[in-house]
Amino acid sequence: MSELSEKYMTQIAGNRALCRRLSLDILAGTLPHALILEGASGSGKRLVALNIAAALACTGKHKDGASVPCLSCLECRKVFEGLCPDVIFVNRGEKATIGVEEARFVREDVKIIPNDLERKIYIIEEADKMTDQAQNALLLTLEEPPSYAVFILLCESASELLETIRSRAPVFRTELMSAQEIEKCILEKSDRARTLKAQDPSLLAQITVSAGGTVGRALDYLDERKFAPIKEARELTYDFLEAISDRAKAGAAIPLLSRFSSKRDTLQFQLEMLLDAAVELLILKKADGRELVFFESEQKALDLCELIPASKLLAVSEAVNEAIEENKRNANVRLLLMKMATSIKIL
Ligand SMILES: [Zn+2]
Repeated sequence: MSELSEKYMTQIAGNRALCRRLSLDILAGTLPHALILEGASGSGKRLVALNIAAALACTGKHKDGASVPCLSCLECRKVFEGLCPDVIFVNRGEKATIGVEEARFVREDVKIIPNDLERKIYIIEEADKMTDQAQNALLLTLEEPPSYAVFILLCESASELLETIRSRAPVFRTELMSAQEIEKCILEKSDRARTLKAQDPSLLAQITVSAGGTVGRALDYLDERKFAPIKEARELTYDFLEAISDRAKAGAAIPLLSRFSSKRDTLQFQLEMLLDAAVELLILKKADGRELVFFESEQKALDLCELIPASKLLAVSEAVNEAIEENKRNANVRLLLMKMATSIKIL
């Protein structure tokens, strides 16, 4: 395996099936000339788009879908290294939106035949940041592009795009990855991830489980400052669950109430995390073997599960859920926390 393909196979992990399907379309000549790739931030949309571009450019062996792109020919390398003049990225740069000027650029540029390749591939990043005027300016080009042009629109949710755009381009979704897949991927990409793996594997596990299935977010969270508020909320959740367990002294949860934020947004985040964790424990009592979304260690989750009766977990889930709703309705923060504490019978 070439170095590029080894690196790429890890990174593409969760999206392998999608890439294979698109490669088969390319081989069969049925790839649409415009398509939308939607998925959470950091879920590999750009990589899948590059995969499509490389597959279109590839001059390697084309025996079956698995070998497209081959990842070792010159064209594949140029695409992945960002050196191919016929793969054109369109983005908002420093601006808040992609405006009509960018759309006009695409409209004119697409009339010029490709340089190196037989195709010209436009990758529009954050396509949902296109203004309505920009989307309208692109409509005709998307509908009747020159035969060599392919448009790939990346966005978190296709529903943010105008219906007229959506009706011209089928939507494909990038997949979320498991915490283990994410770990494998960031270990390859980041020195800090490797350092943590050696020195603080628990923190690394917390980062991967908190990343919500996307490598991009996990890489973000490797930045200590960015992960700090999440780490703090996680600690509060653990401490709270510990304090209501059979192992804790009566009243142990009361001092924790002051650690909930008086800022509504932060409080919402803390409460939602606590709810996720309590529900996760409840489910764990009934069935194991499912993927954990809060707990970074199955053993930690199982230990807590043993120590907190289902009835208590249910009471916590209901009380926290109620507190979340009240917070959304702008209820007094201290009062809603007191109510929550009273329903769980910790006051
Ligand atoms: Zn190739």
